[in-house]
Amino acid sequence: QAVIHWFKRDLRVRDNTGLSKAGELAKVKGVGVIGVWIMSPQDWEAHLVSPAKCDFELRSVELLQKELAELDIPLYIETVTPRKNVPKRLLAMAKEWGVNNIFCNLEYEPDELRREEILVRQGAEEGINFEPYHDDCVVTPGRLKTGAGRQYAVYTPWYRAWVAHLHAHPEILQERPMPDKNPLGFRETFKTLFDREVPAAPESKTLDKEQKERFSRLWPAGEAAALDRISLFLTEKIGHYTATRNFPSKKSTANVSVHHAAGTLAARTSVRMARDVNSTKKLDGGIEGIRGWIGEVAWRDFYRHVLVNWPYICMNKPFKYEYTNISWEYNTEHFEAWTQGRTGYPIVDAAMRCLNATAYMHNRLRMITASFLAKHLLIDWRLGEQYFMTHLIDGDFASNNGGWGFSSSTGVDPQPYFRVFNPWLQSEKFDADGEFIRKWVEELRDVEGKGVHNPYEKGGEAERVARERGYPRTVVEHRLARERCLGRYKKGIGRE
Ligand code: FAD
Repeated sequence: QAVIHWFKRDLRVRDNTGLSKAGELAKVKGVGVIGVWIMSPQDWEAHLVSPAKCDFELRSVELLQKELAELDIPLYIETVTPRKNVPKRLLAMAKEWGVNNIFCNLEYEPDELRREEILVRQGAEEGINFEPYHDDCVVTPGRLKTGAGRQYAVYTPWYRAWVAHLHAHPEILQERPMPDKNPLGFRETFKTLFDREVPAAPESKTLDKEQKERFSRLWPAGEAAALDRISLFLTEKIGHYTATRNFPSKKSTANVSVHHAAGTLAARTSVRMARDVNSTKKLDGGIEGIRGWIGEVAWRDFYRHVLVNWPYICMNKPFKYEYTNISWEYNTEHFEAWTQGRTGYPIVDAAMRCLNATAYMHNRLRMITASFLAKHLLIDWRLGEQYFMTHLIDGDFASNNGGWGFSSSTGVDPQPYFRVFNPWLQSEKFDADGEFIRKWVEELRDVEGKGVHNPYEKGGEAERVARERGYPRTVVEHRLARERCLGRYKKGIGRE
């Protein structure tokens, strides 16, 4: 009768491995494809998905439904709760529609792998073939090994192996074909499956009207918007990427992490498109900005490989076991100052206010704010990791956890613990003219010159404006915070 493709974090029609395989089988059998998308509010809760991200996914699902309808493929939508019922419901749908094959793309977190395992087993018992595909990473986890046959825990040698593997297997980057249009008469037979409406977000994930409009403007959803965004980046910005990527006010990055996270754009598509505009037509060599950008997309793969190899990082454990005993602070006043952007460190405050308003933060600022929470405030980095997840529109466990591990020096391939970012120097280097700070920290908008980076220390006019406008004083003093951090880390890892 038909085959199913179950859409999850792959909300697109183009370059989608599972969907493409579903299309291939449907063609061989002379049947149609049915798309299924399941809303599982309990999964969204458990994974701390932000309301902005839920809204983005719902908007993308609506557009996906329209794209699929052009191929006469229905997107059947259902809300299933509790989440443990998802496999049962999916198999029941298959039976109801006379389907023997369910395709999907794999997600690598332990809960999701366990769910797919149930589907393989129960499906087999009921005569339904459940086929999950590797699609989310450019290079499938497990493929790259060190000379000693181990998994890589350091990015640079891993990246060299990643590039070599892709050059040796160019087919990996090839675009997966779209499914054909469903056969004549399919729409008529499965008419009711075409009528499903996209549900509203669960109450705890609902945005108000103003936020909804703002996020829709800032973050156009769906794969057409993703392709527009990356095409613009590749024609106008990628050449300067390496020189400009660290400067938040230059807006020089691709801004596609939201699409990679929702699967409206495959990382494979991004890498292929970037390779194709490189003068060498390769991943390395050629134009520096292109090489550099591909290297950043590779970080996403790297952190996924880490997750697959060391899944205990999903269980609130640091990658580095010896960092388990650091004695963290749980000072709620400091934590709130950080979340609200009132630490007295303008670059940190600007970044946090930007996150709260736009659901996004530039990579350099993610590093500065994460390091500040873990090292200056000595607050448990996991609280920051959770705050980011519940506020980012591109929240993604592997990349977020990797970034927090890096910034707090507890993760894979870490910054050494004794390297503590100086927020003022970071600010002077990466927001030299203070444009980003002035945009987000209203109290400092009229501070001229370098005083904007650190008004109370600079004194004079900068201090006067900051005081009069009620800009907070620093919650911790930089030098003392640094000393406290080094002492606490040393003690925690037994190197006193
Ligand atoms: P570009 O600079 O244009 O990079 C292109 C793509 O490469 C990105 O879209 C992203 O998919 C990938 N990428 C770039 N840098 C990284 C990186 N360091 N790690 C992993 N992938 C990368 N990224 C997320 O997608 N989701 C998260 O939840 C997330 N949390 C982070 C938390 C911390 C503490 C840190 C330091 C980084 C985090 N990142 C996360 C990585 C990075 O900040 C964002 O991917 C990047 O800012 C997205 O903007 P862009 O699309 O313009 O990136």
